[in-house]
Amino acid sequence: MNSKVLGKEISTWINEYPLLKEIIDLKESLWINPNHSNFVEGMKNVSLSQDDVLDAEKRLNRFAPYIAKVFPETKPENGIIESPTVKIDNMKAKLEEICGEHLPGNLLLKCDSHLKVSGSIKARGGIYEVLKHAEDLALENNIITIEDNYEKLDSDEVRAFFSNYSVVVGSTGNLGLSIGIMSAKLGFKVTVHMSADARQWKKDLLRSRGVEVIEYESDYSKAVEEGRKQAESDANSYFVDDENSKNLFLGYSVAAKRLDNQLKKMGVVVDDNNPLFVYLPCGVGGGPGGVAFGLKLLYKDNVHFFFAEPTHSPCMMIGCMTGEHDTVSVQDFGIDNVTAADGLAVGRASGFVGKTLEKLMSGCYSVSDENMYRLLTKMADSEKIFLEPSALAGVPGIINILTSEEGKKYLRDNNLENKIENINHIAWATGGSMVPKDMMDEYYNKGISLLK
Ligand SMILES: *Cc1c(COP(=O)(O)O)cnc(C)c1O
Repeated sequence: MNSKVLGKEISTWINEYPLLKEIIDLKESLWINPNHSNFVEGMKNVSLSQDDVLDAEKRLNRFAPYIAKVFPETKPENGIIESPTVKIDNMKAKLEEICGEHLPGNLLLKCDSHLKVSGSIKARGGIYEVLKHAEDLALENNIITIEDNYEKLDSDEVRAFFSNYSVVVGSTGNLGLSIGIMSAKLGFKVTVHMSADARQWKKDLLRSRGVEVIEYESDYSKAVEEGRKQAESDANSYFVDDENSKNLFLGYSVAAKRLDNQLKKMGVVVDDNNPLFVYLPCGVGGGPGGVAFGLKLLYKDNVHFFFAEPTHSPCMMIGCMTGEHDTVSVQDFGIDNVTAADGLAVGRASGFVGKTLEKLMSGCYSVSDENMYRLLTKMADSEKIFLEPSALAGVPGIINILTSEEGKKYLRDNNLENKIENINHIAWATGGSMVPKDMMDEYYNKGISLLK
């Protein structure tokens, strides 16, 4: 631990932000954003708009025939990669047992764990960004026009064209999977720089698809830095910048309208009387940030969102709480950034995301690795849904908000006390369906042993 962070003693930081003491001690914490404002106020300094989200949605629609062709598993949905939303009453009953209280309202799970092609929330932003880059190149070089059927891109000539270009990314695993799989399919040369915590099966899978995987012994920040360096040295190289990318963010944001359609079909209403609370696992912030931003544009003050992080990697919570965003890391405060929650092992949050959501975010909370494993096992037992540890971080959000003092105060401050029965809570399950069976068994058994 540095004795000073940005020139200030850690004890001074703690005086200013008392919750920081708990966070440094690796306790599960809930931070309510004191700057949370209404939608109009919160959007004042935000440069992205509904038009940008619409543009991304249209782009994904243009690519849908191509996606359906090259990933036949997406044919039933006509090449639109989207996940189911399900009610999880059995899991809700388990959560009531855990906290020993009745939990009013409705609990849903958004199963991005089951997104086709790359099996995690990264199938939204990651795939979108690669498609956007491919489209830009193809349009510039008169390979397609915007009116064409993009199935045309599935040809040896086009792949030969894209093979002159490379795509580079730094990743803890899942982003690498989605960027790697999509880029390789189009014909790009692709390099994924993987941090030490990335799982072997992800590296193996990528190599089997022709992706170059470079491994590092240090964490995510190093992998990103090396990726950026590699791309800078080559004019035909495109770097997917997880920490700052607007394209990734917009790819994620398209989820909102699709979710809205699903909720309507399920008879779930979001309005003044029926608020929506969404709990999103957060790594660097682009995934949860993009989704949350899309939801805010749609539901405005009727949606409240919270980011969930491991107790060992609470980078967004520290960045937003101190207002220092990407100028501080969890390591600065002596927190090790070592967690079993793959996609969440990030020590420094995206400054772009933190600043964009500065007044729109309701708060952040942290979850221990042990509790993610326990919830993983309970989710498997009660709902037969198998998730990776990270994807469980959103699940205790409903308990945190409805039963803690800070959560109750948030409900009072937002005049929601008399609407508690009407709140729909969504835990965003961000990954898991591609985890190999033996690995999933290991996760499950770990949960069993922790529940004893
Ligand atoms: C990447 C990832 C997240 C978080 O996304 P960020 O954009 O890094 O915040 C959450 N869960 C899983 C499983 C992920 O792979």
